[in-house]
Amino acid sequence: MTPDGPLLDHLVGQDRARGRLVEAVREGRLHHAYLLVGPEGVGKRLLARGLAQLLLCPQARDGQACGRCRSCQQVARTSHPDLHWLEPQVRTGGLGSLGIDQVRRLIQEAAWRPYEGGWKVLVIAQADRLTPEAQNSLLKLLEEPPGQAVILLTSPRPDQLLPTVRSRCHTVPLRSLTDEEVRGVLADQGLIGPEDDETETELLLVAVQGAPGRAWALDRERLRERQEAARAWVEALLGEPAWRRLVLAGELAERDDLVEVLEGAVLWVRQVIRTRVGRSAGSAPAGQAAHPRPSLDELIELWRELREAYRLVQGPAQRRLVLDRLAWRGAGGGPGRGH
Ligand SMILES: [Zn+2]
Repeated sequence: MTPDGPLLDHLVGQDRARGRLVEAVREGRLHHAYLLVGPEGVGKRLLARGLAQLLLCPQARDGQACGRCRSCQQVARTSHPDLHWLEPQVRTGGLGSLGIDQVRRLIQEAAWRPYEGGWKVLVIAQADRLTPEAQNSLLKLLEEPPGQAVILLTSPRPDQLLPTVRSRCHTVPLRSLTDEEVRGVLADQGLIGPEDDETETELLLVAVQGAPGRAWALDRERLRERQEAARAWVEALLGEPAWRRLVLAGELAERDDLVEVLEGAVLWVRQVIRTRVGRSAGSAPAGQAAHPRPSLDELIELWRELREAYRLVQGPAQRRLVLDRLAWRGAGGGPGRGH
């Protein structure tokens, strides 16, 4: 699916990053290498492609690509002959790496004359997946790219790039989006609609954490089930007797995605706190109505405890012990009550 109009018009929440690059193009002082950094899914690739569109569009005016011509369409589909795009493959165990051969090929392509006689745009997405040798082989290109070429690296983990690579690029940071901005993007992409259940939309917002691009990679069904488990756990901790919490703790300890469930619980409580702080006293947040309303202090305390548990279960700690300790919270500190 190719979005309508210039790609940069679809980039939400990144006015600073976009403004900086567009101004540089307008004023004819674009550097030859940029490193676009920011969390996965906030728009780094879209910014790279949008900039390519602007540089390659023969009808670009005043810092804007036309978004309609053949060149713009080709860039949108990543099939423009002067746009060279390198990206690691997604494998079952995670992302593959980018090796020295792939970088050599990119360097060769960069050396050819541009087909359309203008710019050449070279993009390496997820550049932290470049092997150290591949990064070293890139240094010369970053220093003196041939002709009118710009190199855009994107990375959510720039600290994993060699300092020699980072220092040759101008860093352009992209930020996480607000929930409202994420809502706008997801609606624009048809991932949520006005008829959708509001709680489900909130769960999705919690899961993507300000990065709408993540929504595409999520297994919505699994996410929903996981978040339901997280919420049931939080509600039990806030309002159910200790014996019931212990039963739940036993069930949770068996889950192979316990870390994610606890992460969901931490995020969920944070969301409830935010909603509570954001809205003045009045409507109870979704999911809280069935129990006596916990105080803000109580929520913050629970959030701290959950965060600690989340940290502990990622280490060598006994999962069951961590969960049982949570289950006993507020019940006199140990076995004795609740039986
Ligand atoms: Zn165009």
